Amino acid sequence: MDFTLTQEQRMIYEYGDRVSRTFDRRYWMQYADRHEPPKELYAQIASDGFLGLMVPEEYGGAGQGMTEMTLFMEGLANNGIPLLNLVVGPTMTMGLIAKHGSEALKRRFLPDGCSGKLKFCFAITEPNAGSNTMMITTIARPDGNGYRLNGQKVFITDAGDADYALVVSRTTPAQEVSRKSEGFTLFMVDMKHKGVQKTLIPVSFSVPETQWQLFFDDVPLSADDVVGQVGSGFEILFDTLNPERIILAGLCTGLGRYALNRAVEYASERKVFNNTPIGAYQGVSHPLAVAKTEIELASLMTLKAAWAFDKGLPAGEYANMAKYFAAEAGIRAVDSAIQAFGGNGFTKEYGIFDLYPLVRLLRTAPLNREMVLNYIAEKVMGLPRSY
Ligand SMILES: Cc1cc2nc3c(=O)[nH]c(=O)nc-3n(C[C@H](O)[C@H](O)[C@H](O)COP(=O)(O)OP(=O)(O)OC[C@H]3O[C@@H](n4cnc5c(N)ncnc54)[C@H](O)[C@@H]3O)c2cc1C
Repeated sequence: MDFTLTQEQRMIYEYGDRVSRTFDRRYWMQYADRHEPPKELYAQIASDGFLGLMVPEEYGGAGQGMTEMTLFMEGLANNGIPLLNLVVGPTMTMGLIAKHGSEALKRRFLPDGCSGKLKFCFAITEPNAGSNTMMITTIARPDGNGYRLNGQKVFITDAGDADYALVVSRTTPAQEVSRKSEGFTLFMVDMKHKGVQKTLIPVSFSVPETQWQLFFDDVPLSADDVVGQVGSGFEILFDTLNPERIILAGLCTGLGRYALNRAVEYASERKVFNNTPIGAYQGVSHPLAVAKTEIELASLMTLKAAWAFDKGLPAGEYANMAKYFAAEAGIRAVDSAIQAFGGNGFTKEYGIFDLYPLVRLLRTAPLNREMVLNYIAEKVMGLPRSY
């Protein structure tokens, strides 16, 4: 077993250290507070060739895998610059097209995705189905040579900015299939079509990416818009959902590290009793040390999940465990950092409390903690199912 990163992987991991010299946490926060895309940073990332990390070179990408994408995200988040756009676009949509798209689909979307000319979002969640994806009702019904898409999605990250959405739809309603996982089809949907309406969902936390409700009203689609096979979408769905869990785990471990580094710096300087820095008190240092240990453990599982995915091995077990533990470790890391900062942990000037909402979000999304634990209990451990 070898835990050493290759030279290229190290360069990818350390990119966040380099780019944050120009585009730091303060820069990111300005855009996050305005809910606007940090366009100069995206342009830099695109021109440095990182949007196409998971795309083969022949389609304009870097020909790397989930491991490198995760290292990239973790390295950015280590510096306090988490980018959700990289999750829904370059990882979930471009990664899936690269793996399962037709040749025509790859040529149509990947080169422009790699250059940043095209942006993507991913839409599975529906208001009435919630965590129970099997019960989604968005449906593409045959119409002439193509299909007509009707339905509704909710909480779609970055839909306002995206040119295309990767939409998880049914082509056969749940009531008409013998197994609930049958009858799903994945489509690339043009967000500029007049049949696509969107409504902003205001949220209580600051990130550049905005959240949207989508309505599809008779949107025409063709066989060329299908990713994978008609009716067999479920078979490839986890090649986008596992990467989502893995990369978001990387985001959490990175943000946790950023919080802990800031806390160490502060606790080594701040003195309130006997000229001793507060970091010398075990009441301050032990929670930070526990959090550091948990973050590094979460990071190990995250990279194991990415490794399994890249090897074509079953990655669900590791991806779910990584997502669960990284979110919990991230929450504890940020919480212990807030405590170490005392009152300053709550000020805009120090910006530590600002780290909390995103790590906390990742206990709920993309798959909530309870459904992740259900997966581990049932699929990994063989316990009976309750729902
Ligand atoms: C900021 C944000 C961004 C998002 N981005 C996207 C996106 O880009 N694309 C997309 O498709 N979706 C997105 N989502 C949706 C997200 O994946 C869902 O919110 C999440 O899966 C939970 O679904 P729900 O909100 O309907 O909760 P529900 O399904 O209503 O569940 C509510 C709570 O009930 C509990 N629960 C539910 N079922 C069970 C069970 N069987 N056992 C035990 N407990 C259970 C859990 O605690 C859960 O948190 C986003 C959500 C947010 C908040």
